[in-house]
Amino acid sequence: MPELPEVETIARDLRRLLVGRHVRNVAISGKPLRMCRPVDGGELERAAKGARVEQVTRRAKYLILRMSSEYVLLVHLGMSGRLAVEPAASPRPRHTHVSLSLDREEELRFVDPRRFGSFLAYPASALEDSDELSVLGPDPLDASFTASALLASLRATHGCDIKAFLLDQRRVAGIGNIYASEALFLAGIHPRARANRLGAARAARLHEAIQKVLAAAIANRGTSFRDYVDAAGERGDNQRQLQVFQRTGQPCPVCGNRLKRLTQQGRSTFYCPRCQR
Ligand SMILES: [Zn+2]
Repeated sequence: MPELPEVETIARDLRRLLVGRHVRNVAISGKPLRMCRPVDGGELERAAKGARVEQVTRRAKYLILRMSSEYVLLVHLGMSGRLAVEPAASPRPRHTHVSLSLDREEELRFVDPRRFGSFLAYPASALEDSDELSVLGPDPLDASFTASALLASLRATHGCDIKAFLLDQRRVAGIGNIYASEALFLAGIHPRARANRLGAARAARLHEAIQKVLAAAIANRGTSFRDYVDAAGERGDNQRQLQVFQRTGQPCPVCGNRLKRLTQQGRSTFYCPRCQR
Protein backbone atom coordinates (compact mmCIF):
# COMPACT_ATOMS: atom_id res chain seq x y z
CA MET A 1 0.00 0.00 0.00
CA PRO A 2 1.49 3.37 -0.91
CA GLU A 3 2.48 5.41 2.15
CA LEU A 4 3.71 8.99 2.41
CA PRO A 5 7.02 8.54 0.50
CA GLU A 6 5.36 6.78 -2.42
CA VAL A 7 2.62 9.40 -2.65
CA GLU A 8 5.21 12.20 -2.37
CA THR A 9 7.20 10.63 -5.23
CA ILE A 10 4.09 10.55 -7.41
CA ALA A 11 3.17 14.12 -6.42
CA ARG A 12 6.62 15.35 -7.51
CA ASP A 13 6.37 13.47 -10.80
CA LEU A 14 2.88 14.75 -11.49
CA ARG A 15 3.87 18.33 -10.65
CA ARG A 16 6.44 18.15 -13.41
CA LEU A 17 4.08 16.39 -15.84
CA LEU A 18 0.78 18.14 -15.19
CA VAL A 19 1.10 21.74 -14.00
CA GLY A 20 -0.09 24.05 -16.78
CA ARG A 21 -1.78 21.28 -18.74
CA HIS A 22 -5.39 21.53 -19.90
CA VAL A 23 -7.98 18.84 -19.33
CA ARG A 24 -10.12 18.46 -22.42
CA ASN A 25 -12.42 15.67 -21.32
CA VAL A 26 -13.27 13.28 -18.53
CA ALA A 27 -14.18 9.58 -18.65
CA ILE A 28 -15.04 7.26 -15.77
CA SER A 29 -15.70 3.53 -15.40
CA GLY A 30 -18.68 4.07 -13.10
CA LYS A 31 -17.51 1.24 -10.82
CA PRO A 32 -17.64 1.76 -7.05
CA LEU A 33 -14.31 2.64 -5.42
CA ARG A 34 -13.36 3.27 -1.76
CA MET A 35 -16.31 2.95 0.65
CA CYS A 36 -18.40 1.69 -2.29
CA ARG A 37 -18.53 5.23 -3.70
CA PRO A 38 -18.41 5.53 -7.49
CA VAL A 39 -16.68 8.58 -8.95
CA ASP A 40 -19.15 11.48 -9.24
CA GLY A 41 -18.93 12.08 -12.98
CA GLY A 42 -20.90 15.36 -12.93
CA GLU A 43 -18.78 16.89 -10.18
CA LEU A 44 -15.60 15.67 -11.85
CA GLU A 45 -16.63 17.32 -15.12
CA ARG A 46 -17.38 20.61 -13.37
CA ALA A 47 -13.98 20.40 -11.69
CA ALA A 48 -11.80 19.30 -14.55
CA LYS A 49 -13.30 19.65 -18.03
CA GLY A 50 -11.78 22.67 -19.75
CA ALA A 51 -9.71 23.51 -16.68
CA ARG A 52 -5.96 23.80 -16.23
CA VAL A 53 -3.94 22.01 -13.56
CA GLU A 54 -2.44 24.75 -11.40
CA GLN A 55 -0.70 22.86 -8.63
CA VAL A 56 -0.06 19.31 -7.43
CA THR A 57 0.49 18.78 -3.71
CA ARG A 58 0.28 16.00 -1.15
CA ARG A 59 -1.28 15.75 2.27
CA ALA A 60 -0.61 12.51 4.18
CA LYS A 61 -1.47 9.80 1.63
CA TYR A 62 -3.67 12.08 -0.50
CA LEU A 63 -2.73 13.74 -3.78
CA ILE A 64 -4.30 17.13 -4.38
CA LEU A 65 -4.62 18.60 -7.87
CA ARG A 66 -5.65 22.26 -7.77
CA MET A 67 -7.55 23.22 -10.89
CA SER A 68 -8.15 26.62 -12.51
CA SER A 69 -11.89 25.94 -12.03
CA GLU A 70 -11.56 26.65 -8.27
CA TYR A 71 -12.06 22.96 -7.69
CA VAL A 72 -9.56 20.41 -6.42
CA LEU A 73 -9.20 16.75 -7.26
CA LEU A 74 -8.44 14.66 -4.19
CA VAL A 75 -6.96 11.25 -4.98
CA HIS A 76 -6.17 8.36 -2.64
CA LEU A 77 -4.37 5.37 -4.12
CA GLY A 78 -5.83 2.88 -1.62
CA MET A 79 -4.16 -0.53 -1.80
CA SER A 80 -3.33 -0.83 -5.47
CA GLY A 81 -4.13 2.46 -7.18
CA ARG A 82 -1.78 4.20 -9.54
CA LEU A 83 -1.82 7.47 -11.46
CA ALA A 84 0.06 7.82 -14.68
CA VAL A 85 0.32 10.14 -17.65
CA GLU A 86 0.24 8.04 -20.80
CA PRO A 87 -0.19 8.58 -24.54
CA ALA A 88 -3.89 8.78 -25.36
CA ALA A 89 -3.30 6.40 -28.25
CA SER A 90 -2.05 3.62 -25.94
CA PRO A 91 -4.76 1.18 -24.86
CA ARG A 92 -6.26 2.07 -21.46
CA PRO A 93 -5.10 -0.55 -18.94
CA ARG A 94 -7.74 -2.80 -17.36
CA HIS A 95 -9.21 -1.28 -14.20
CA THR A 96 -8.84 2.31 -15.44
CA HIS A 97 -11.56 4.07 -13.44
CA VAL A 98 -10.82 7.69 -14.31
CA SER A 99 -9.24 9.10 -17.41
CA LEU A 100 -8.62 12.81 -18.00
CA SER A 101 -7.71 13.64 -21.59
CA LEU A 102 -5.00 16.26 -21.71
CA ASP A 103 -3.50 18.47 -24.36
CA ARG A 104 -0.63 17.00 -26.42
CA GLU A 105 -2.51 13.70 -26.95
CA GLU A 106 -1.95 12.37 -23.44
CA GLU A 107 -4.19 11.11 -20.66
CA LEU A 108 -3.97 11.08 -16.89
CA ARG A 109 -5.22 7.64 -15.89
CA PHE A 110 -6.28 6.36 -12.49
CA VAL A 111 -5.93 2.59 -12.51
CA ASP A 112 -7.03 0.62 -9.44
CA PRO A 113 -7.57 -3.16 -9.68
CA ARG A 114 -8.67 -3.61 -6.06
CA ARG A 115 -10.77 -0.42 -5.96
CA PHE A 116 -9.85 0.75 -2.46
CA GLY A 117 -8.71 4.09 -3.86
CA SER A 118 -10.77 7.21 -4.39
CA PHE A 119 -10.93 10.02 -6.94
CA LEU A 120 -12.99 12.93 -5.62
CA ALA A 121 -13.71 16.50 -6.70
CA TYR A 122 -14.36 19.28 -4.19
CA PRO A 123 -14.76 23.03 -4.48
CA ALA A 124 -11.36 24.31 -3.29
CA SER A 125 -13.03 26.19 -0.41
CA ALA A 126 -14.51 22.93 0.93
CA LEU A 127 -11.30 20.87 0.85
CA GLU A 128 -10.05 21.42 4.40
CA ASP A 129 -13.46 20.58 5.86
CA SER A 130 -13.88 17.47 3.72
CA ASP A 131 -14.50 14.11 5.43
CA GLU A 132 -11.12 12.99 4.16
CA LEU A 133 -8.80 15.83 5.25
CA SER A 134 -10.57 17.24 8.31
CA VAL A 135 -9.77 14.15 10.40
CA LEU A 136 -6.05 13.98 9.60
CA GLY A 137 -3.33 14.67 12.16
CA PRO A 138 -0.13 16.54 11.25
CA ASP A 139 1.85 15.46 8.23
CA PRO A 140 5.25 14.25 9.52
CA LEU A 141 7.10 16.36 6.94
CA ASP A 142 5.20 19.51 7.88
CA ALA A 143 6.92 22.14 10.04
CA SER A 144 4.14 21.77 12.63
CA PHE A 145 5.27 18.20 13.34
CA THR A 146 7.90 18.90 15.99
CA ALA A 147 9.29 16.62 18.71
CA SER A 148 7.33 18.51 21.35
CA ALA A 149 4.10 18.28 19.31
CA LEU A 150 4.68 14.53 19.01
CA LEU A 151 5.29 14.24 22.75
CA ALA A 152 2.06 16.12 23.51
CA SER A 153 0.14 13.89 21.13
CA LEU A 154 1.67 10.74 22.70
CA ARG A 155 0.73 11.93 26.19
CA ALA A 156 -2.88 12.49 25.10
CA THR A 157 -3.37 8.77 24.38
CA HIS A 158 -4.84 6.23 26.79
CA GLY A 159 -3.20 2.85 26.74
CA CYS A 160 -2.61 2.41 23.02
CA ASP A 161 0.71 0.96 21.93
CA ILE A 162 3.15 3.00 19.89
CA LYS A 163 2.65 0.97 16.70
CA ALA A 164 -1.10 1.62 16.77
CA PHE A 165 -0.40 5.29 17.46
CA LEU A 166 1.81 5.59 14.38
CA LEU A 167 -0.79 3.94 12.14
CA ASP A 168 -3.61 6.16 13.42
CA GLN A 169 -3.98 8.84 10.73
CA ARG A 170 -5.68 11.18 13.24
CA ARG A 171 -2.43 11.27 15.29
CA VAL A 172 0.22 11.38 12.55
CA ALA A 173 -0.92 11.23 8.94
CA GLY A 174 0.88 9.36 6.18
CA ILE A 175 2.70 6.53 7.98
CA GLY A 176 1.68 2.93 7.29
CA ASN A 177 2.97 -0.50 8.20
CA ILE A 178 6.36 -0.33 6.49
CA TYR A 179 7.58 2.99 7.87
CA ALA A 180 6.09 2.39 11.34
CA SER A 181 8.24 -0.76 11.70
CA GLU A 182 11.31 0.98 10.31
CA ALA A 183 10.97 4.13 12.43
CA LEU A 184 10.49 2.14 15.65
CA PHE A 185 13.58 0.07 14.87
CA LEU A 186 15.68 3.14 14.18
CA ALA A 187 14.46 4.76 17.40
CA GLY A 188 15.09 1.58 19.44
CA ILE A 189 11.50 1.49 20.68
CA HIS A 190 9.56 -1.76 21.14
CA PRO A 191 6.38 -1.77 19.01
CA ARG A 192 4.29 -2.72 22.06
CA ALA A 193 5.59 0.18 24.19
CA ARG A 194 2.75 2.28 25.61
CA ALA A 195 2.53 5.51 23.64
CA ASN A 196 1.78 7.70 26.68
CA ARG A 197 4.79 6.39 28.62
CA LEU A 198 7.54 7.08 26.08
CA GLY A 199 8.92 10.21 27.71
CA ALA A 200 10.60 13.22 26.10
CA ALA A 201 13.93 11.60 25.15
CA ARG A 202 12.35 8.62 23.39
CA ALA A 203 9.71 10.82 21.74
CA ALA A 204 12.53 12.98 20.36
CA ARG A 205 14.33 9.87 19.05
CA LEU A 206 11.13 8.64 17.43
CA HIS A 207 10.50 12.04 15.87
CA GLU A 208 13.97 12.03 14.33
CA ALA A 209 13.61 8.40 13.19
CA ILE A 210 10.26 9.07 11.46
CA GLN A 211 11.72 11.98 9.52
CA LYS A 212 14.85 9.99 8.61
CA VAL A 213 13.06 6.90 7.29
CA LEU A 214 10.60 9.00 5.30
CA ALA A 215 13.30 11.23 3.81
CA ALA A 216 15.41 8.21 2.83
CA ALA A 217 12.41 6.52 1.21
CA ILE A 218 11.56 9.66 -0.77
CA ALA A 219 15.19 9.91 -1.91
CA ASN A 220 14.86 6.28 -3.11
CA ARG A 221 11.55 7.05 -4.88
CA GLY A 222 9.48 4.84 -2.58
CA THR A 223 9.24 1.17 -1.65
CA SER A 224 7.89 -1.34 -4.19
CA PHE A 225 6.80 -4.75 -2.93
CA ARG A 226 3.80 -5.52 -5.08
CA ASP A 227 1.88 -2.86 -6.90
CA TYR A 228 3.49 0.48 -6.28
CA VAL A 229 4.98 2.27 -9.28
CA ASP A 230 5.63 5.96 -9.80
CA ALA A 231 3.85 8.17 -12.33
CA ALA A 232 6.17 6.90 -15.07
CA GLY A 233 5.39 3.26 -14.23
CA GLU A 234 8.80 2.65 -12.58
CA ARG A 235 9.31 0.75 -9.34
CA GLY A 236 10.91 2.45 -6.33
CA ASP A 237 14.28 1.43 -4.84
CA ASN A 238 13.69 1.73 -1.12
CA GLN A 239 12.86 -1.95 -0.45
CA ARG A 240 16.61 -2.65 -0.49
CA GLN A 241 17.21 -0.14 2.30
CA LEU A 242 14.63 -1.52 4.74
CA GLN A 243 16.22 -2.77 7.99
CA VAL A 244 13.46 -4.91 9.51
CA PHE A 245 10.30 -4.91 7.39
CA GLN A 246 9.52 -8.45 6.17
CA ARG A 247 12.91 -9.68 7.43
CA THR A 248 11.69 -12.11 10.10
CA GLY A 249 14.45 -14.59 11.06
CA GLN A 250 17.22 -12.59 9.41
CA PRO A 251 20.01 -11.11 11.55
CA CYS A 252 19.44 -7.63 12.97
CA PRO A 253 21.69 -5.20 11.06
CA VAL A 254 22.79 -3.68 14.38
CA CYS A 255 23.20 -6.56 16.88
CA GLY A 256 22.96 -9.73 14.76
CA ASN A 257 20.11 -11.18 16.83
CA ARG A 258 17.26 -12.74 14.80
CA LEU A 259 14.52 -10.30 13.84
CA LYS A 260 10.99 -11.17 14.92
CA ARG A 261 7.45 -10.53 13.78
CA LEU A 262 4.39 -9.90 15.88
CA THR A 263 0.79 -9.14 15.00
CA GLN A 264 -0.86 -5.93 16.18
CA GLN A 265 -4.37 -4.87 15.13
CA GLY A 266 -4.23 -7.63 12.55
CA ARG A 267 -1.06 -6.23 10.93
CA SER A 268 2.48 -7.59 11.08
CA THR A 269 5.18 -5.65 12.87
CA PHE A 270 8.85 -6.50 12.36
CA TYR A 271 11.38 -5.71 15.11
CA CYS A 272 14.56 -6.66 16.94
CA PRO A 273 13.80 -7.97 20.45
CA ARG A 274 17.26 -6.92 21.64
CA CYS A 275 17.59 -3.42 20.13
CA GLN A 276 13.97 -2.35 20.74
CA ARG A 277 12.80 -1.88 24.33
ZN1 LIG B 1 19.20 -5.77 17.10
